[in-house]
Amino acid sequence: QEERLAAVLAELNEAQRAAVEHGVCEAADMRPLLVIAGAGSGKTSTLAHRVAHLIARGADPQRILLLTFSRRAAQEMERRAGQVLAKVLGLRSEAPPALPWAGTFHGIGARLLREYAAQIGLDVSFTIHDRGDAEDLMGLVRSDIGLAAMERRFPRKGTCLAIYSRVVNGGAPLAEVLAQAFPWCAEWEAELKRLFGAYVEAKQAQQVLDYDDLLLYWAEMVAEPALAAQVGARFDHVLVDEYQDTNLLQAAILRALKPDGSGLTVVGDDAQAIYSFRGATVRNILDFPGQFTQPARIVTLERNYRSTQPILDVSNAVIAAAAERHAKTLWTDKPSVGRPQLVLVPDEAQQARFVAERVLAHREGGLALKSQAVLFRTSSHSAALELELARRNIPFVKYGGLKFLEAAHVKDLLAVLRFAQNPRGRMAGFRVTQLIPGIGPATSTRLLDAMAQAEEPGAVIQAFQPPSAAREEWARFAAIYAQLRAPALAWPADMELALGWYLPHLERLHDDAGLRRGDVEQLARLASGYASRERFLTELTLDPPEATSDRPGPPLLDEDYLILSTIHSAKGQEWRSVHVLNVVDGCIPADVAQGAQELEEERRLLYVAMTRARDHLHLIVPQRFYVTQQAVRGDRHLYAGRTRFISAAEATRFEQLTWPPPAGRAPAVPPPASVIDLQKRLRAAWR
Ligand code: ATP
Ligand code: MG
Repeated sequence: QEERLAAVLAELNEAQRAAVEHGVCEAADMRPLLVIAGAGSGKTSTLAHRVAHLIARGADPQRILLLTFSRRAAQEMERRAGQVLAKVLGLRSEAPPALPWAGTFHGIGARLLREYAAQIGLDVSFTIHDRGDAEDLMGLVRSDIGLAAMERRFPRKGTCLAIYSRVVNGGAPLAEVLAQAFPWCAEWEAELKRLFGAYVEAKQAQQVLDYDDLLLYWAEMVAEPALAAQVGARFDHVLVDEYQDTNLLQAAILRALKPDGSGLTVVGDDAQAIYSFRGATVRNILDFPGQFTQPARIVTLERNYRSTQPILDVSNAVIAAAAERHAKTLWTDKPSVGRPQLVLVPDEAQQARFVAERVLAHREGGLALKSQAVLFRTSSHSAALELELARRNIPFVKYGGLKFLEAAHVKDLLAVLRFAQNPRGRMAGFRVTQLIPGIGPATSTRLLDAMAQAEEPGAVIQAFQPPSAAREEWARFAAIYAQLRAPALAWPADMELALGWYLPHLERLHDDAGLRRGDVEQLARLASGYASRERFLTELTLDPPEATSDRPGPPLLDEDYLILSTIHSAKGQEWRSVHVLNVVDGCIPADVAQGAQELEEERRLLYVAMTRARDHLHLIVPQRFYVTQQAVRGDRHLYAGRTRFISAAEATRFEQLTWPPPAGRAPAVPPPASVIDLQKRLRAAWR
């Protein structure tokens, strides 16, 4: 095994090896470890190697806590670590080591909170609100306390939630958050405070947690020294990827779990911090070295294994102008295949056409669709492209985009399960009872009020007397509900039961029931992949907590398909070819980005997009593009030019082309050699 281990380590460069072996051998150096390095330098691979290495040396996978940015990233890490481990152990097949504690901060938080629920006074059957539910509850609470009837200028529910979330995640007082990020709402400070108080009360009464609560409760839990010690002692190793995008709560959680930083490894790149709009702070990674009772060891990686040198050159140039960062310049010896392209197109329709053609050309050249991605700033920016792809029958999957989980019928079915899981959850309860003909909003509210008062809310359902029109259907529902609440029922039998109850309603409610039926059946099929109802609901809700992830969409799974993704969701990933849409001022940077700090974040966003490319990078600049702006509440066209982050001088590093080629002019094929010779000869004749 030692030999195989040495062989695996030999595949790494020296700095990577140092990070992998840190504190693993005898005379263990238990200092916390910070790997800070640029894009594509192997931070994530190094982390995967480190996990494999730890396990090969006898670490118990149960005692490794691995925190990633998305569940997809956690699974990928598990897979990569499995590959390495198989090599080290000399196994033929890759049996991935189950890493039971690999996941996102939010997902792991949900699990720990449920485990320790009794000790922190939380009901173990709590359910989790996604952004939509959270906004709706915020809206309900707002009308409950009479704020809705106020002037129309009062911030919308989505804005209210965003403000609340900023306060919770950033630890700054409301007044400060308002002044800095929501100045147009500052006049409502007192009302907002009242609203947020009522919102917190409502969540507690209903035993629901929103995304922010998962971190907040976790942080509060480990602020209790005894509990911190108890939870911290469960993990010998805590590893975090993408540390530059964590917030203060997340840093506080790590400090509480590992006060001396021993066994703690974080990796990240300050130049890729793109989540400060959500309360993440790059200070976490910059301040990491001095946060623990022993100083951290810092490892930097400079060699890039992902991209070609021309791609690195243009990416480095974009980030080199950044105001504040750890200076690092990436290099590679990967052979290049031409320069990155800067493509001028007249508008978004032509942009879509260009991308579709280029994608097909790449496929002709041997690049599977799956190894190509199209990135854009906001989900709506891919609309024209989606049409074009559909027109040409090019299959695609959109990350973090198509709102499968937000479709009414999918939410309905999930609500049935949620309501069974947590009878006090009013959003789910309201949704489900409204499906029953003859039950109106007032009846639902009466029922839910009665349930809120009851010791045994489930029993209220059985005893409830609905209006006579609803009596028969109510009896059917009550019977199913009792079964769903029965502890003996084994998952995913509940799903079958819930689906069986819901399908007739779906048929009755929707003209396009056939299509919708496919979705809910797909959802039901997914159920068997989860250990329990609670895990299914939690993970489906959390993934994506914010932007990302693999949606359980139509069954494209084995086919080849193009990836469409927002830049935020593309974090950490790589493709052979990458197209970036709308690389124009007004989009990147967005014209709402005003402050110097916001502008810097926009620069990093472009850097993240460009550094996803391995061989081919295409930046598209439509001269005219359409923006939907929430801030001004309206749509408009924008005539724009190339992003300010690529100067005229830097633009010359790109192959610049105009598309479609101007009519009448031949495409830019170099003239045959003989003509050049002839011209030379003719010129020479005049000298
Ligand atoms: P990002 O900042 O975008 O998250 P990263 O630093 O995490 O990037 P990885 O995704 O881990 O980088 O690695 C980028 C690519 O380089 C991957 O394809 C990986 O397999 C490859 N790679 C990393 N280290 C090596 C190595 N020592 N030898 C060969 N390939 C490597
Ligand atoms: Mg990475």
